Amino acid sequence: MTFIPFARPDLGAAEMDAVRAVLESGWLTTGERVHEFEAAFAAAVGAKHAIALNSCTAALHLALDAIGLRAGDEVIIPAYTFTATAEVVLYFGATPVLADVDARTLNIDARRVAEAVTARTKAIIPVHFGGLAADLDALRAVAAPRGIAIIDDAAHAFPSRYNGKYIGAVSDITCFSFYATKTITTGEGGMLCTDSDAYAARCRLMSLHGISHDAWKRYRAEGSWYYEVVAPGFKYNMTDIAAALGLAQLRRADAMRARRQEIAERYNAAFEGHEFELPAFGDARDHAWHLYPLRLPRGADRGVFVDALRAREIGASVHFIPLHLHPFYRDRYGFTPDSFLVSTAEYEREVSLPIYSAMSDAEVDAVIGAVTAVIRGASRVLAG
Ligand SMILES: *Cc1c(COP(=O)(O)O)cnc(C)c1O
Repeated sequence: MTFIPFARPDLGAAEMDAVRAVLESGWLTTGERVHEFEAAFAAAVGAKHAIALNSCTAALHLALDAIGLRAGDEVIIPAYTFTATAEVVLYFGATPVLADVDARTLNIDARRVAEAVTARTKAIIPVHFGGLAADLDALRAVAAPRGIAIIDDAAHAFPSRYNGKYIGAVSDITCFSFYATKTITTGEGGMLCTDSDAYAARCRLMSLHGISHDAWKRYRAEGSWYYEVVAPGFKYNMTDIAAALGLAQLRRADAMRARRQEIAERYNAAFEGHEFELPAFGDARDHAWHLYPLRLPRGADRGVFVDALRAREIGASVHFIPLHLHPFYRDRYGFTPDSFLVSTAEYEREVSLPIYSAMSDAEVDAVIGAVTAVIRGASRVLAG
């Protein structure tokens, strides 16, 4: 058996044909395929507006611009996330205020959020860790009475559901990622969803240099060369090449999710009864299963475990190194590992196993065999 990587995109003839058709058409950048992808994605999650962008980070940046974030404001985010969730807040000279997560779900803990709210809090950005929806009702109960916006970092959460609705149709603004390792991919890409006409108009404007299309329509008599710049915008538009890839992936998104659920259920059955803590989930069909975060017994040596898997040709990963342990955030805000106890403790025992639709049954069996062999002969792992 050859090496089983941690992630591998699921690309077939439909993706190859779609990209080839764009290349042959001669129109490469934002055009018909992007509009088609936006409409199909909005319909898929049940959002009024979907704006295709070149990353989830761009979507988060535009979302915070749309709600009018200013220097000195605060945005509450989980400590247990990727740096993108925090860096976009810093773009504005605003402060990312970290909150600890729930030990079971690894999603932001609404009680910690309530404690972190101040008069400067303008937004909360929950991350749906691994594809499991965060407790959005509890967050809304904190946010709504204070006029605080909820912007979902849904980089892991397509397709995920919360109380019967797709993530993308629940919060004020939702940001998805189509990075190469995510549940559907456009190589690099993102999507911003909202039901607000005002947020959508602002995000669209700022996504392409602050060029007003209304002006183009108004002054059409001037000719198609005319446009007006009404704000210093950004360059965050998606290409038709990426959108064609995204459309092909979108058509297979449910089937790919179902395959990941199947893999998760096989892992659950195999690892139950060992000393692991299995990933949290409600209804397995509501979970995007972007990650399979296994947690080792407390005190186990995660480094030895990951090395032992690698020696058996299995690529594992770790999600996430919490923000407060990274030099930048640690030094800037004076954090110690004890600043967010749950995040630190869970990070130290988390191992993400391969879970993607392009995995064969034999590969799933090989992962199960390797994990159980490592834990069975685990005196070194457990002694750590
Ligand atoms: C991948 C990821 C992002 C960034 O997505 P990009 O599309 O690469 O910008 C943001 N947040 C989380 C939690 C992620 O995992």
